[in-house]
Amino acid sequence: MLRCLRVAPLSLRANLHSSVHPWSAAAQRAVAPPEDFNDRAFKEYFPGPCNYRQQYNESVHNGDEFWTNVANELHFRRRSGKGLEYNFDHRKGEVFVKFMDGSITNVAYNCLEKNIISGMGNKVAYKWEGNVKGDACEITYSELRDKVVEFARVLKSRGVKKGDVVALYLPMIIDLPVAMLACARIGAIHSVVFAGFSSNALAERVKQAGAKVLVTCDGFYRAEKYIPMKQIADDAVKVCEDAKHPVESVLCLEHLKTVTRPSHTTDKALIRDEENFEFAVNDAKDVFAPVEWVQAEDPLFILYTSGSTGAPKGVVHTTAGYMTTAYYSQKVTFDAQANNDVYWCMADCGWITGHTYGVYGPLLNGMTSVLFEGVPSYPDYSRTWEIVGKHKVSKLYTSPTAVRSMMAHPEEMVTNYDRSQLNIIGTVGEPMNPCAWKWLHEVVGERSCAIVDTYWQTETGTHLLTAHHSAVPQESSCGNLPFHGIVPALLDENGKKVKGPGSGTLVIEKAWPGMMRTLWGDYERFVNTYFAPFPGYYFTGDGAKRDAENHYWVTGRVDDLMNVSGHLLSTAEIESALAANPNIVEAAVVATPHDVKGQVPYAFITMPEGQVMTPEIEKEMRATVRQRIGAIAVPDVIQFTPGLPKTRSGKIVRRILRKVAEGERNADLGDITTLADDTVIAELWSHRPENA
Ligand code: ATP
Ligand code: MG
Repeated sequence: MLRCLRVAPLSLRANLHSSVHPWSAAAQRAVAPPEDFNDRAFKEYFPGPCNYRQQYNESVHNGDEFWTNVANELHFRRRSGKGLEYNFDHRKGEVFVKFMDGSITNVAYNCLEKNIISGMGNKVAYKWEGNVKGDACEITYSELRDKVVEFARVLKSRGVKKGDVVALYLPMIIDLPVAMLACARIGAIHSVVFAGFSSNALAERVKQAGAKVLVTCDGFYRAEKYIPMKQIADDAVKVCEDAKHPVESVLCLEHLKTVTRPSHTTDKALIRDEENFEFAVNDAKDVFAPVEWVQAEDPLFILYTSGSTGAPKGVVHTTAGYMTTAYYSQKVTFDAQANNDVYWCMADCGWITGHTYGVYGPLLNGMTSVLFEGVPSYPDYSRTWEIVGKHKVSKLYTSPTAVRSMMAHPEEMVTNYDRSQLNIIGTVGEPMNPCAWKWLHEVVGERSCAIVDTYWQTETGTHLLTAHHSAVPQESSCGNLPFHGIVPALLDENGKKVKGPGSGTLVIEKAWPGMMRTLWGDYERFVNTYFAPFPGYYFTGDGAKRDAENHYWVTGRVDDLMNVSGHLLSTAEIESALAANPNIVEAAVVATPHDVKGQVPYAFITMPEGQVMTPEIEKEMRATVRQRIGAIAVPDVIQFTPGLPKTRSGKIVRRILRKVAEGERNADLGDITTLADDTVIAELWSHRPENA
């Protein structure tokens, strides 16, 4: 168990108004990135010494030219000469964003044929690692293209045309990027549904998207657990029968016969002939499936948000703008090297990170990626590092939740494996707490990796704030800088812009090419959710702080900020202070009403297996919060729980915790289909202290 006692004091981030400038102190203790770390990707765009800030200024002063220049590196069949056009103010007319409107291109062509033409056909595109150690394979760019063409033929044989929606319900197997690219090749819109979703959750998404075809597989194993994909898909199709546009065909890949089963099982999915993918391939071998040249603003995909705050939203991304920002942000944030990188994005393709930085970003840059079917905990918590060592991974993209789960185990699980090639570790999904940062920096990176936190959303398609290694000191409490082309602002409670250092609601002032265009079938909800709250701005729903040097700290959802006796506190800060205690695995804090103080913090904590909460540990935790933030932030209640309610993408669902804290046993918990494990709810109630 890692002890995190040397973590930089959180008070550095906590008090924006203190007279001592907190971040200058942070910068002095900064650990420089490794000496041989250069910014090759930057140099291609900006000759001369690398200066992220200067380049940032150029990118926002002439955003149109900046993004159009990036797009010039990609293949377009026709360029219209138009750049970025948008309106964020619904009072002045329809809210819209367009990039290179009228231009014609194809994203799959840019991911595959463009690389093959430039001589990379024999380069490995994906190194696949199965759930069970030893199950592995590779696929080159040329082989990937052939599989994509084959898949595209099958889709066409099922009547899929440009603009039709294809739902993809598949685990992390190579067929998933193949299916995504096959849709892109023929101009169909993919809607990937995470393979952990239940039949009802799948049905809901299939229905909402109006999918014509549903692609799945017989089943797969997640650790020891068998997931009967075909059966779940069949159940979902039944639920969709009364939909306006019921699913016309189901295609089922046979995956199980190619993998090692972790335990004895007789599970066998029943695949009807006409659904069997191999049967369909044979049937479609004479079908013509050429690249469909599509409009810049034609939709590329629909993706539902993770649902941490309510019902998931069907975010729509289009072609040219998404492609341009995926290509550029992959290149800059991960310093993409076509020649010698092995990159691994651990996120599932069922989430936006898997789309942008697991499929489109790396392929557009001709990178070699690892694709992992399993989970970091199986067969034990060393699995991630075993894969990193085996493939000599040089760039890793992970999440704070994965990091926190791994750091609860002995360091040897990491240090026994080769990490000599690793030079960038990115994180996304939640605020990166100092303890987890420190563990990545010291244990995993041995102080010679750049740790790059990236803040963004399904809706934004691409990074908004990053801790870019050349610009942000390598320090655990360092904030992020705006990504090139992104103009963030903070608004106070009256909707007025906060000037200089301060905190407020995070909004974005100008459009960028890769942002969402609408919510599928619900333009009104799109405007109401993202633009109506602050006309003229894109509303992120998150709160943030900023220092005088334009570093940003995302403090959590706006709804998660609490007001204790007139002091605005962020749940993320209290959580970090609690989690600094070596006995704690994770902490989640919510605000709960209080007669006198208005609101008070209520904390839920998890501990390593077998460990129990003692009055001493509780006392220590309270003392840490008091020392780091102040007495005002000390939780009224600290509740132990065996597990926290999380979405299937690993995010804590605080709205459920709020109900538990408030003691509302009969409350409506909203959509719980997005929960990874709903048995946690009963556990939360059973561990609720009587005096809470
Ligand atoms: P829903 O919108 O349905 O509630 P969601 O917001 O969890 O789901 P995503 O789009 O996957 O779905 O997540 C984006 C959110 O994740 C951000 O708005 C932010 O709250 C959080 N987030 C992502 N990256 C970071 C980060 N690096 N630091 C802090 N928060 C982050
Ligand atoms: Mg969201």
